[in-house]
Order: sequence, then structure tokens, then C-alpha cells
Amino acid sequence: MSGIGKGVTVSSVGRILKSKGFKVTAVKIDPYVNVDAGTMNPLEHGEIFVTDDGTECDQDIGNYERFLDQDLETANYITTGRVYQSVIQKERNLEYKGKCVEVVPHIPEEVIRRINNVQRKTKADFILVEIGGTVGEYQNLLFLEAARILKLKHPKDVVFILVSYLPIPKMIGEMKTKPTQYAARTLNSAGIQPDIIIARSELPLDNLRKEKISIFCNVLKEDVISAPDIKSIYEIPVNFEKDNLGNRILKKFGLKSKKNDLKDWKKLVKVIQNPKGEVKIGIVGKYFKTGDFTLMDSYISVIEAIKHASYSFRVSPQIVWLDAQDYEVSSRSLASNLKELNKFGGIIVPGGFGSRGVEGKIKAIQYCRKNKIPFLGLCLGMQLAVIEFARNVCGLKKANSTEFYKNCQVPIIDLMPEQKKNLGQKKYGGTMRLGAYPCKLNPQSLSFRAYKTSLVSERHRHRYELNNEFRDILEKKGMIMAGINPQRDLVEIIEIPSHPFFVGTQFHPEFKSRPLKPHPLFKKFVRACLKKQLSD
Ligand code: GLN
Repeated sequence: MSGIGKGVTVSSVGRILKSKGFKVTAVKIDPYVNVDAGTMNPLEHGEIFVTDDGTECDQDIGNYERFLDQDLETANYITTGRVYQSVIQKERNLEYKGKCVEVVPHIPEEVIRRINNVQRKTKADFILVEIGGTVGEYQNLLFLEAARILKLKHPKDVVFILVSYLPIPKMIGEMKTKPTQYAARTLNSAGIQPDIIIARSELPLDNLRKEKISIFCNVLKEDVISAPDIKSIYEIPVNFEKDNLGNRILKKFGLKSKKNDLKDWKKLVKVIQNPKGEVKIGIVGKYFKTGDFTLMDSYISVIEAIKHASYSFRVSPQIVWLDAQDYEVSSRSLASNLKELNKFGGIIVPGGFGSRGVEGKIKAIQYCRKNKIPFLGLCLGMQLAVIEFARNVCGLKKANSTEFYKNCQVPIIDLMPEQKKNLGQKKYGGTMRLGAYPCKLNPQSLSFRAYKTSLVSERHRHRYELNNEFRDILEKKGMIMAGINPQRDLVEIIEIPSHPFFVGTQFHPEFKSRPLKPHPLFKKFVRACLKKQLSD
């Protein structure tokens, strides 16, 4: 079932196997027909994660990277769209040598070829393959078919793990195993017998339930792993190890652990469980309201990056969602809404697309700049900080981005030339400036002091950029260009040195933050937030 934590389960299994001395990688299979996640609305699908090689993919790839502390690439991401696209291309190229190309076996074969390809490229001992969706639904049937064939061909090299949910209905107050029994049966009917069942529930599994699942689902009792709700996802590997999951998996492959190295991870978990204080951070965004619920998935990497940086100071973050449209109201409520920003150690304006909420974000940024509230702008957040500065410090009242106002007179943020072509031809998917690009840091900048090096590489996902024609006037008024892409002379980081922390990045630093290696800019930001909180 989606949303029960399959992604973090796979990530945690990966971390465990890595800690036992094995080389691990992970593959995400998304059953949708989209070629990648690039054209999806974050409110529907959650965050679009970006790899170094520029793939716009599912947020689970981000989880894998964070838990494995490894960069993944486009090959680690498979969708129905990608699979069909390459099968059709091969047919056009006569690669099936005149055969009739059929859904079975050719589609599962292409899935298996892609999985093998990852092994060839990475030489990993283990490839963890996560099949998205729910067993029994039509969409992922062909992927289950691929899994079945893979096991048939390599019986000793494939182990199946079912992640299942055990509800505790409020009116009965009892944990129910039936849905898991049905899930296992449904898998059986696809020709797959799970070897291990990870039982997600609100509470840990008792002995009775473990026995029941064992008997009805045909797995050993020791292979029923309890996965109760926990406060932090980073506790999961440690929790799984309480049920000996790592060694159970190794045993099925006839392997033995080479070492046991979850030490640093356990230390991190201790900090998470016993923080020394709190840092309060506000995020001004727009992708978090779905009906009556708040959906934080759209900004997951930003949230995780804040956590990593906070844990490095042994504090836990309190993140508050601030709706950008709250700053687009009548002047009386605007003043009081803006005043609320003072309550925070700092404010982040994350990435985004389209004009909704933009003027509200600009108002919030202006308030942070004037009131010396630490501010971090990510991609769109950086572009809006430049617009705000141009309008209110440089006197360019009509400054805007051509994304929101096509014919604006002062296009301080403008479409990159190659993007004009893409949009003109309606080429939206996979055509932004994507993935890793180098950035040279100004030695006088806060960013340089944060990174402690002069050349860095960061991940991008945007079509617009700071218009170089306006650099001089911004610099004259006190904004510095702290990071530049050396090949194309594009502005990557802006700062206001007279402010305690005012940094905007054209790239997305959040994609590269790891639990044990927080991102330097997030670290400096959280530090500034803590400093402000102390002096408040
Ligand atoms: N919409 C902006 C652009 O395309 C910013 C994108 C983002 O925040 N990722 O340039």
C-alpha cells in the first residue's frame, strides 16, 4: 500500500546491509505511464527529486540517497513509461528481429534488463528493488511478473519482502492481520511467495500476531518483522535490527555479516531522541494544502536537510508551514501576519513554479531582510529575493520574473535562452536546467566560509535565471554574487553581507544533505537561527 513507508523501509534495509559490509544500491519502480516525475504537480505526487545526472524522479530516490549516503542515477529509476518507451524504440530499430513484440514476455524482460544494468554499472552485492503501488492493482502486475521471472531464473539470488499494514481499528482496539493475509495471498496468485514480511502498524507486533502471520502467510515466525510507528524515520534501521532483519536477509542468501557498523547511525538516533533544544523555522510555501490536510511531502528534502543540520547542533527542529497567500491580504492583517515571522529563528522560501503566492513570498522576504531575520531562499526563493531587493532597495519598482509577467519592463529574472526554444516547442518534460553544475564561490562570501572550499557542485531544476544585465545595480546596492557557474557566468548564489544571514541559491542544496553529512549552507543557516533565538 502506498504511504505506509515502503521507501524508508527499503532505505533502512539498504543502510543495514551496508553497515554489514556489503555494497548496496536501490532501484525504484513507479508504475505510472509518465516517463519521469518531472511533469507532475508536487501536490499530487510529492516532491520531485533530482539526481546528479539530472533525472527528475520520485522522492524515494532521495530517501535511498540519504540512508545509503550514496549518489544514485537515472538507471536507478524505472517507470512504465520508460520501459514501454525503450521497448517501442527497440522494435523500431529491428532489435526484436522481426518477432511479434508482446507485453509478456518483452515488457518484464526489459524490466529485468534494466535491473541487471544497474548491477553491471554499480557492481553492487545487493540491489534493492522497490515496486511502487499496492499488490493486486493492475498497474504493477508486469513488474511483479518481472520479479517472478527473475526469481525463476536466479532462485538463490532473489528474496522477496512484503511490506504490509496491520490496522488497529479504534472501535475494536485490536491489531488485525487479515489485510496482510490477503496481501500475501494476492502476491501468491502472482506467483510470488514472500520470504520476509515487514509488518507496519501503529504498535509493535505481539507474539500471537507474529504466529498468525507466519502460519497464514507461509513465512517463518522469525521472518515476520515488527515495524511500529516511530517518531523519526532514522530510527527504523535500528528498530529493524532489534528483530535481526539484516541477518535474516543474509541467511536467505547464504551470506554472513562482514562487520557491524551502525555506530554512527545509533549516535544520530540518540541525538534525535534526546535533543538539547529546539530551533524554530518557518517555511513560506504553497504546496502543502490538500483539502483539510497538510501534506508535507512536497518539500521533503528541505525538511530532511533542516533536520540533518539541526541534529548536528543537537537540537530538534520545529517546522511551521506558512501559507504564502497569508501575506497577500489587506494591510492590517498583513502587518500582523508579517509580525509573526519574528517568532522564528529563521525563514525558508523553497522552490516553486507559477505565480500563485509569489507576491506573498516577496512580502515575507522583505520583512526578513529589513528585520534581520535569517533567510534562506531556494531556487524560486532566491529569484524572489532578487526581485524584492531590486524593487525595494534598487528602486526598480517594476522588477519581476518573466515567469509571472511575460512582458515586464524590468525582467530581472528571465528565461534562459535554450528554454525559450523548449517552451516554444512545448517541450516540457526533462528540459529544464537539470542536475549537477559547478559553482565557483566568492572568497569574501558567507557561502565560501560555509563550504570551506572554492568550487562546489550542486543540483538544479529551473528554467529562469538572474538576468546578468542587472548584476551591477544589485551589487552597487549591497547584494553580492557569492557563487557563479564558471562556464556560463550564471549567478548561482546571492547574499546580503550586511544581514546576519541572507542567502539565496539558484540550485537546490537540500538534495545533497545527508543525515550524517548535513549540507554546509543549511548548517550555517540553522546556526544563525539559533543565534537569533538566543538574542531574542
Ligand atoms: N520557477 C522557477 C524556474 O523555473 C524556479 C524553479 C524552482 O524553484 N525549482 O526557474
